Amino acid sequence: MSMELERLGTRVAGCRACPRLVEWRERVAAQRRAAYADQAYWGLPVPGFGDPAAHLVVLGLAPAAHGANRTGRMFTGDRSGQFLYAALHRTGFANQPTSLHRSDGLCLRDCWVTAAVRCAPPANKPTPAERDRCAPFLDTELALLPVRVILALGAFAWDAAVRALGPVRPKPRFGHAAEIRLGEVTLLGSYHVSQQNTFTGKLTPAMLDAVLHRARDLLGS
Ligand code: SF4
Repeated sequence: MSMELERLGTRVAGCRACPRLVEWRERVAAQRRAAYADQAYWGLPVPGFGDPAAHLVVLGLAPAAHGANRTGRMFTGDRSGQFLYAALHRTGFANQPTSLHRSDGLCLRDCWVTAAVRCAPPANKPTPAERDRCAPFLDTELALLPVRVILALGAFAWDAAVRALGPVRPKPRFGHAAEIRLGEVTLLGSYHVSQQNTFTGKLTPAMLDAVLHRARDLLGS
């Protein structure tokens, strides 16, 4: 990992700027879910992760309380992550289809996975103030990566990406497989990989694969 990205990760993990989110992430980490009672939760903001030379950035909303807030790596240790990394593996962006914990051997190729907000929020809903306070971390990350395509998972991430790349008027509308060119970067949209979408069939593996193949086409790789 480049030194700058490593330094950014250290800064992210040390942030305590949002009192409500600090209290929540630490409470969840102290109480734990029964299935993980024998595990030490990360309980800190979660840095981005992947290939420091990535041209594709996958952007989520925020860490899940018992997923990334437990394991310390984005989309790791929960069903949303299983769905996402299986798709990244099928499309050649990941060396393995599973993402269980920080030392599981997962490597991303030409891909970086991050989130608009770095602390697990109650009910997966950060406030606008929390979103805005966390935005500079994404701005810095995007400046340090040679990003050409951003894949936003869900409307919250889409809006965060537009703000980071914008300002753009009229605001581009989010939708599954939506695509818009903003400067040097193409923004792609996908429904979020949450169980709410994947269990109901709103987002299928084939739908996510198609968006990732489109990212590949755009990257010319
Ligand atoms: S959400 Fe972002 S700005 Fe707020 S405490 Fe977490 S890392 Fe810091």
